[in-house]
Amino acid sequence: MIPTSGSYRLTNIRLHRSLTPGLAATFNSDGFALVDMSVADGKISSISAHGKPNVAGDAIDLAGRIVLPCFVDCHTHIDKGHIWPRKPNPDGTFMGALNATGADRTARWSAEDVARRMDFSLRSAYAHGTRAVRTHLDSVPPQEEISWPVFEAVRERWRGRIDLQAACLLGIEGVRDKAWFERLAKRVAGAKGVLGVVTYMVPDLEELLDQVFAQAIKRGLDLDFHADETDDVAAISLKKIAEASLWNGFEGNILVGHCCSLARQPDLEVFDTLDKVAKAGLAVVSLPMCNLYLQDRRNNNTTPRWRGVTLLHEMKERGIKVAVASDNTRDPFYAYGDLDMLEVYRMATRILHFDHPVGDWPKAVAVTPAEVMRLDGAGTLAAGGGADFIVFKGRSWTELLSRPESDRIVVRDGRAIERQLPDYAELDELMV
Ligand SMILES: [Zn+2]
Repeated sequence: MIPTSGSYRLTNIRLHRSLTPGLAATFNSDGFALVDMSVADGKISSISAHGKPNVAGDAIDLAGRIVLPCFVDCHTHIDKGHIWPRKPNPDGTFMGALNATGADRTARWSAEDVARRMDFSLRSAYAHGTRAVRTHLDSVPPQEEISWPVFEAVRERWRGRIDLQAACLLGIEGVRDKAWFERLAKRVAGAKGVLGVVTYMVPDLEELLDQVFAQAIKRGLDLDFHADETDDVAAISLKKIAEASLWNGFEGNILVGHCCSLARQPDLEVFDTLDKVAKAGLAVVSLPMCNLYLQDRRNNNTTPRWRGVTLLHEMKERGIKVAVASDNTRDPFYAYGDLDMLEVYRMATRILHFDHPVGDWPKAVAVTPAEVMRLDGAGTLAAGGGADFIVFKGRSWTELLSRPESDRIVVRDGRAIERQLPDYAELDELMV
């Protein structure tokens, strides 16, 4: 339906207000406007209200179908992805996930194993319409020596199709070994990566955070934390990160993931934390599918009674940048998933109530994570910008979010791509 080359004009398509900055059009109560969009030389040459005359190319009438910019997935773990068949989570708990993954990493994560699973993940993400991915890389010794070179090679292979970023991942106690952490930060900087740690309530948290910020400032790195992935109300490391950012005068971007415990804390505590997060300019990403899976799982005889996600509405209300992302895929932290950001958005709509009104929530899978990842122009559709978009069947939110949209059309640089999901059987030999 979409030409594979040349210039063309898509007429009668629906674009969303939150993802088309400055577009002069009439938007309905769902936030959609009917427009015509011209594409030439891999770029969007014009967007105008539907029905206005336009000269360039052949017109293709899409009968009101929704078109969204390609997705940006700012929090994944493609180094862990797809190990489930050989290392499942024995009981679905967070500790079960941590222990199973650690054992698998020690035993199995050779460069080839990591590279092949990463490539599999990226092929899925690309086919689903994602254009940029940030992954965390387990960086506890000796894995950092294996996974960072693999990441650099994979990023190079995928250049032009997926912008791949990486952040190191280690428990905050790992920072206590100053010499080793300094070497890691240098390695991360050498790979143009992001400095990341997992924070929880250790007695010397503030001191360790200061070391993390000192390394980031010294090397000009952005920061990416996993914080408070627990229901423990005493877990306030999000607040500690905000305070550390303020007293260190940090000027880079900071993304904080999870922040589950915040949803369990009393309002006064929550408001104090959110004020500091807003003041420090932190961005927060929620991982709704993973949180739903791992949080409030006590034993086999109980039903979960909370959703596990953090307070995105209250954050957005305060002007804090908020995103949602995939997190884990088919590994002990999450048994399912395929790096499909439409699935993430669909699940977020249900779990986090991204509706009534939808408002500008679509930014959470597009322009907001693009800003956090410093990807200029990604996550929006505008004249002069790249023609990287997804054409869906749905003509409204209720149509778009009710079906998997497996037959969506993904357009990159103006051309419809071959959407081939990799076959699971490809990984069989790594799973024995
Ligand atoms: Zn994560």
